[in-house]
Amino acid sequence: MEINELSESTIKTLTSHWECELGESKSIQFIQELLEKHPNLLEVRHRLANIMIEAEDLDGAEAMIQETRKLFPQDKDYVLDLAHLYFFRDDFDNAYKYAVEAEKIDLTSGVIFYILAEKQIQADNKLEGQSLLLEGILNFPHAIQNLERAVEEQGEKYFAPDEEAPNPMSEDEQKDMVQFIGENLEKAGSCDHTFRFSYEWSEKAEINFTQLAMYLNSNDGFCDCEVHETNS
Ligand SMILES: [Zn+2]
Repeated sequence: MEINELSESTIKTLTSHWECELGESKSIQFIQELLEKHPNLLEVRHRLANIMIEAEDLDGAEAMIQETRKLFPQDKDYVLDLAHLYFFRDDFDNAYKYAVEAEKIDLTSGVIFYILAEKQIQADNKLEGQSLLLEGILNFPHAIQNLERAVEEQGEKYFAPDEEAPNPMSEDEQKDMVQFIGENLEKAGSCDHTFRFSYEWSEKAEINFTQLAMYLNSNDGFCDCEVHETNS
């Protein structure tokens, strides 16, 4: 089968497999080779720009983004890449400008929520800032900077995933959470890899969600199905 016939989802799986198995620099090289032969894989181009940003090759990422804009003048998704790029360049004004554009066309990420939240916090709209950080935590649980910022804003101590965060639940509450998440995952049919049911439960049980999320993260729970599995 020719690679052009591969579906976007297959390519997505392939590139994220490279990322996990080979690490950033090797997977950047693999994806670049793939794009040399097949420059029109737009999704892959966006993915590569982001891996380069994560690997702190910001100049490489910028060149990639500009090349993509030339090849695909109609494509609007570059605003997300630019928001990420400027954010990591510590150019907050430009990062914010593109984050707003990205959000307008429903393109979000952990970083986008972080940027939008930071702007509100700086303008003293603390509640709005917290609610944007929460959106980021719920939808992009692996983007842990949102949780760190939210906890910091609450004046609490932050525990990273590799630290031992205190458990805010009693044993009975923990059992109840697992059951609640299990039932809802079953009803939903699959996990969308967010924290939506964990959050719903925390509201019902009146448990501080950021404290809960830190505990879940430090026990390898980064979405509802992982929380269900690691606590069952
Ligand atoms: Zn999941």
